[in-house]
Amino acid sequence: MINPLIDWKILPRFDEIKTGNIEPGVRIVLARCEKKFNELEEANPTSWEELMDPLEMIEDDLSRHWGLVSHLHHVKNSPELRDVYNKLLGDVIKFTNKLNQSQNLYKAYLNLQKSDEFKNFNDAQKRILKSTIHEAELNGVGLNSEERKEYNQISQKLAELTTRFSNNILDAIKAFKITITSPEQIIGLPTTLLELTADTAKQEGHSKATPTGGPWVLTLDSPCFIPFMQHSKSRQLRKKLYEAYISKASDGEWDNSLIANEIINLRQAKAKLLGFKNFADLSLSRKMAKTPSKVQKLLYELRDSSRTVAEEELKSIQTLADKNNFGKLKHWDIPYWAERLREKQYEINDEELRPFFPLPHVLAGLFELSEKLFGVKIKENIERMSFWNKDVKLFRVFDLNNQHLASFYLDPYSRPEEKQGGAWMDSLVGRSIILGSDKGKVRLPVAYMICNQSKPVGGKPSLMTFREVETLFHEFGHCLQHMLTTIDQGMASGISNVEWDAVEIASQFMENWCYDRGTLRKLGKHFETNQPIPESFIDKLLKARTYREGTNTLRQVNFGLLDLEIHQTQLSETSETILDIQRRIDRETLILPPQESDRFYCSFSHIFSGGYAAGYYSYKWSEVLSADAFAAFEEIGLDNEDEIKQLGHKFRETFLSLGGSQEPLKVFVAFRGREPNTKALMRHTGLISQLPNGEA
Ligand code: ZN
Repeated sequence: MINPLIDWKILPRFDEIKTGNIEPGVRIVLARCEKKFNELEEANPTSWEELMDPLEMIEDDLSRHWGLVSHLHHVKNSPELRDVYNKLLGDVIKFTNKLNQSQNLYKAYLNLQKSDEFKNFNDAQKRILKSTIHEAELNGVGLNSEERKEYNQISQKLAELTTRFSNNILDAIKAFKITITSPEQIIGLPTTLLELTADTAKQEGHSKATPTGGPWVLTLDSPCFIPFMQHSKSRQLRKKLYEAYISKASDGEWDNSLIANEIINLRQAKAKLLGFKNFADLSLSRKMAKTPSKVQKLLYELRDSSRTVAEEELKSIQTLADKNNFGKLKHWDIPYWAERLREKQYEINDEELRPFFPLPHVLAGLFELSEKLFGVKIKENIERMSFWNKDVKLFRVFDLNNQHLASFYLDPYSRPEEKQGGAWMDSLVGRSIILGSDKGKVRLPVAYMICNQSKPVGGKPSLMTFREVETLFHEFGHCLQHMLTTIDQGMASGISNVEWDAVEIASQFMENWCYDRGTLRKLGKHFETNQPIPESFIDKLLKARTYREGTNTLRQVNFGLLDLEIHQTQLSETSETILDIQRRIDRETLILPPQESDRFYCSFSHIFSGGYAAGYYSYKWSEVLSADAFAAFEEIGLDNEDEIKQLGHKFRETFLSLGGSQEPLKVFVAFRGREPNTKALMRHTGLISQLPNGEA
């Protein structure tokens, strides 16, 4: 019998996969992985080919198919899918633990590292072996059987809890709706938001809803929440929406507060079992930054340089409100008045820009830039393909000789009813020589690129906010690193084996191009008239880049410190709760004290259900590196076509090519010729305008 979940070589037939295929499919995969693993253990492997190749094949078999299930869990969530996912998760973890905790394999890795063969290994092989050993140690290979039992129970429990944490957020968002019917309540709202909220109303059963006549349904989903807070004149509705937003998943049916507590306790117990002082130390042991204190040093440095700027920013917003006799600003007033100040200072408005950023033009501009910088051509695959949703597209990447290099799926629009919020890149398969279909022929990488941007409404294409454009560039940067890798060992190709705090370099590097005039000219074309975006708009966009950067930086510092602090605390040994920690970090980093009902940590999915535990700082850490890398382009002049092209190729040959085969610092130095510093980031964010020697 054919099971579409596991019966595919290059691309899955997504529309044939039924929830009923998942359990039998995963069981088959687990059984054959188990069999291969037992054979490997018994074979006493001594060479790379005997040991590491089969290991890669086992890991790939599982991650390729289980990855497909988690992908669907993220983009096509349903009660049935959740049930089967939760049911299987335990067995998947059990097998992964067994693989990572194998004493026989661990001894074999150590022997291989000591063998004569080792000195002939290439850099990728050496790094793979080193991280496999480290990973086995972090997975408890050195524990006695009692401890290992405890370790495994903790892992199982953690997997369940982290999944529940993210499902609770999804459900809490789904359950919250405000239906408005009175035209007075929509005063100030931009047309795109009226279209979106009327469209939601239709889905909710108001079949006659129209953008001009209503009713309109408000949700906590970002494409609705953000513009509503910026534009609604109804202070009462803003307050209602804001309060629901900051306290989501913090009580009742979807309460995450106790789950968060339990997750932290379990992580600390795990860290202790492995001989670490706390989970932050464990997490940092496999990152570029190495120790929490190094991270704190950077975050406090950023706090100190942004605090006064942020205070000034708040003052200017309050001054504008005062001029309008508004009174003292509350949290739910700030986005509204900040947007008015932005309009006044820069004469620019998110909504005015949207018509110039329809998705098809933005993509065309992005692909043109990629061709210029990295020498790749990207074409949409127009054959009939099989997808998980009608809006998904498949693109293929070629080099300039039309050699196929990689492919990626784009799932652009928000679907709060079944798709997790935010944007991310994931791997369907990675580059690998031993997993190629024929001998000596490499398997080409395929990526998923998932965004949650404004969907097309009213017969228009998706008209993107500038923030959505930046997000698209960001995720595409991740995809490029996955797709343009030249490393043939699957365990270090693309984003594999890259330290977590270095993994945002390529993505943030790409975001910088959204502020390049030449690039903006290519992206920005009016969706109806095809008119290029006016130069005056570009001027304003560039000027507005650093608007509220003090506040934004403080917010990121706040998240980074909160994450680190939570993971350094033994909750069972102190009277401080996670909420107390949140409040303490808020006092250290925020200008305006938070609302009493603020339970941000209950929806901090990055650290409780994503991979960012004691790693949220990675964004700022790699922003330092990516800004410094981008500064190399600025130094030669962004319109200096020939040299930009050469430097782009160098970027491709280092950051995009080397994957996890080298230490990230070494990759950086190979590109930049020196170690990184924070000057470029400070300049980009406007936190220092000019360095005395002018060298930034
Ligand atoms: Zn990212």
